[in-house]
Amino acid sequence: STQIQLASRPVGTPGPENFSTASVELPDLAPGEVRVRNDFVSVDPYMRGRMNDAKSYVPPFGLGETMSGGAVGRVIESRSDTLPVGTGVLHGLGWRDVAQAPDTQFSPLPETGLPLSVFLGAAGMTGLTAYAGLKRVAALTEGDVVFISGAAGAVGSIAGQVARKLGASRVIGSAGSAEKVALLRDRYGYDDAFNYKDAPVREQLRALTPDGIDVYFDNVGGDHLEAALDRLNTGGRAALCGAISQYNSTERSPGPDNMANLVTRSLKLEGFIVGRHQDLQPEFAEKMTGWLADGSVVFDETVVDGIENAAGAFLAMMRGANTGKMLVRV
Ligand code: NDP
Repeated sequence: STQIQLASRPVGTPGPENFSTASVELPDLAPGEVRVRNDFVSVDPYMRGRMNDAKSYVPPFGLGETMSGGAVGRVIESRSDTLPVGTGVLHGLGWRDVAQAPDTQFSPLPETGLPLSVFLGAAGMTGLTAYAGLKRVAALTEGDVVFISGAAGAVGSIAGQVARKLGASRVIGSAGSAEKVALLRDRYGYDDAFNYKDAPVREQLRALTPDGIDVYFDNVGGDHLEAALDRLNTGGRAALCGAISQYNSTERSPGPDNMANLVTRSLKLEGFIVGRHQDLQPEFAEKMTGWLADGSVVFDETVVDGIENAAGAFLAMMRGANTGKMLVRV
């Protein structure tokens, strides 16, 4: 099995030197084990945090250990009673072409007619993140004006469309290129959008939201969060999903200069981790499967070929090379 491992811990922006490729001989299957040929492995922003030796909601990657994370594939050899050869599965064994472990580490996937990759994106963890963040954390209700940052990525491209489904009256997004801004307007359900690299976020958001915003879904933090706090109306809610503008920072970031708005406008900011909203999974799966099947929610994938290019795909995603979900096709 070809596996990508953490070779060293980055300070600041990670690079290819932080990863190494290992060739691992797999033993014969033990009773209860399966061998899975991965079709796709996921590269995700939270992996940057796991490269640090710091306590967080998931433990750090071990040095010299294979990068764990979401992957989908099919069982090619089985000594399991529950997962026969051919079963499509989701698992967390990460950046390797072939995964082998007890069957309890693999979840069978429904055969929906959609490619298995969708369970790493729109119908998987990132889709649920968008749904849980908007519906439960931000309590999005009919008529709300919504602002979403990181809007052309895996979570954001679904979030714009889910906001529409939940009854938002207007959805505004931000992303890092003119091409992405066009996609937000034309494809991902956004009424209007801006490129945060064109001018200060604070100015651009104000210009696009004359009536303020009621909900902010934050993927970026920093200047985006500060701009949203300016524009949130009385009773506004923000779901803090991520702060990717700060993941490579080596210095402490300044706090928003307008926190007093929380008091004067009775705002509510709530951070969340999707893993704590798994109870929404059945409801989400039913709705999202229907939306994907009838085409009322669309999704895009940016695919990099070859497990040996997993680190490169991860680094490119952190720089914004992806539209929709960044994936490695094994
Ligand atoms: P994306 O597909 O959105 O990929 C990351 C994107 O971040 C890039 O494409 C890039 O787009 C953008 N980006 C990179 N640097 C910056 C910067 N300095 N300022 C603004 N944007 C930047 O990843 P995901 O959809 O998987 O994740 C999006 C966010 O959601 C992340 O913050 C992630 O940590 C968080 N998340 C949180 C979860 C939770 O449970 N709370 C679960 C899953 C994700 P661009 O070209 O627009 O700059």
